[in-house]
Amino acid sequence: MPYAYDDQNIFAKILRKEIPNDTVMETEHTLAFRDIRPQAPHHVLVIPKGSYVCHDHFCIAASDAEIVDFMRVSGKVCQMLGIQPGEGGQGFRTISNAGEHGVQEVPHYHMHILAGRGLGRMLNPA
Ligand code: 5GP
Repeated sequence: MPYAYDDQNIFAKILRKEIPNDTVMETEHTLAFRDIRPQAPHHVLVIPKGSYVCHDHFCIAASDAEIVDFMRVSGKVCQMLGIQPGEGGQGFRTISNAGEHGVQEVPHYHMHILAGRGLGRMLNPA
């Protein structure tokens, strides 16, 4: 079944500027802003401006320009935060939750960038 995008989700409202956000970076296709409930000293959300529900939807349906822009912005945010492990930073984690098992809260594709403390192992045993 094709993805149905709910344009009343909170990130759609942020993109329409109906609610404020703490922007870190903005380009033609991408917005990066701070998570309202940060789970690490740095917690940035990177979202495409297009109407994509989750990772696979974006990767399959978005244009090359949107995908390249999204990935470049995610890298530049790491650069801006000084968290790149190859450049003297102490590293980070990117997460993209999808659907029920991924426990995705907001149905607009986003990548979390978490950094600024040791983040522990990727998953706790179920
Ligand atoms: P998910 O669980 O969908 O992967 O993550 C959604 C994230 O969006 C959560 O970390 C949550 O704190 C964040 N979030 C929810 N509502 C808002 C909001 O209005 N503004 C911002 N900046 N972040 C939000």
